[in-house]
Amino acid sequence: MSDRYFVETPIDGSQARLVGTEAHHLIHVMRGKVGDQITLFDGLGEEFLCRVDQVGRSDVGLSVISRHEVDRESSLPLTLAVALPKGDRRRWLVEKAVELGVARLVPLETERSNDRETSAASVRLRQTVIEASKQSGRNRLMEIGDSVRLLDFVTDTTDDEARLVAHPGGAKCHDVLGSILQRGSALRGVSLVVGPEGGLAPAELAAARASGWRIVDLGNRILRVETAALALAAAVMLYAPAKS
Ligand code: SAH
Repeated sequence: MSDRYFVETPIDGSQARLVGTEAHHLIHVMRGKVGDQITLFDGLGEEFLCRVDQVGRSDVGLSVISRHEVDRESSLPLTLAVALPKGDRRRWLVEKAVELGVARLVPLETERSNDRETSAASVRLRQTVIEASKQSGRNRLMEIGDSVRLLDFVTDTTDDEARLVAHPGGAKCHDVLGSILQRGSALRGVSLVVGPEGGLAPAELAAARASGWRIVDLGNRILRVETAALALAAAVMLYAPAKS
């Protein structure tokens, strides 16, 4: 998977062009030459086997040899709504969420955290999403939504989704996943909520319960935000039926 390159511009013809950091990587790190074959993806679901036609100082021209729809997405689209930690822990969470196949990450504003996303932070996170997709073979980019208040997020959902809030003292996660996710094809997706280091406030838990969310416990230890988010995402992925 390591010789995968990402192109921002959707590929719809027989030519493609690498620019920016991707071109730099191919030209200066991998020492790409005319005639080399590499794989490109544009984040919209397909992979493109391409041949290098021209190597410039900062861009690379390629022709498309073949295109393939290669679907490495989960059969149960997973939305992970989380009060994001900061810095390296945030980047780590985003990288691992991509590897686990999370379809959409929603930064949450909660009563005990209020970290509005800056656009610079979102640009950096998108770069993390691209790097993790190159490495893990995903051909669709995990979407990072606008940040939203938890109270709005939990009330704006539908019954054909499994909806789980992680909170110490909730029902056993294993039991809830077993009973809910075995509905299998009746489900359109799964949404998960993970709170901030200060935990979720009683009013937030009450609003989630009133909107049909199940509160689940992840074991006898208190987990950091990113550990809780990834443990819950991984547990759900184990139940997602394989795509045929
Ligand atoms: N001080 C808080 C813990 C916050 S941990 C408290 O005691 O409630 C940060 C978030 O991770 C929590 O809001 C919750 O969503 C999740 N989390 C951490 N440990 C968990 C556990 N054992 N079970 C369920 N959720 C957990």
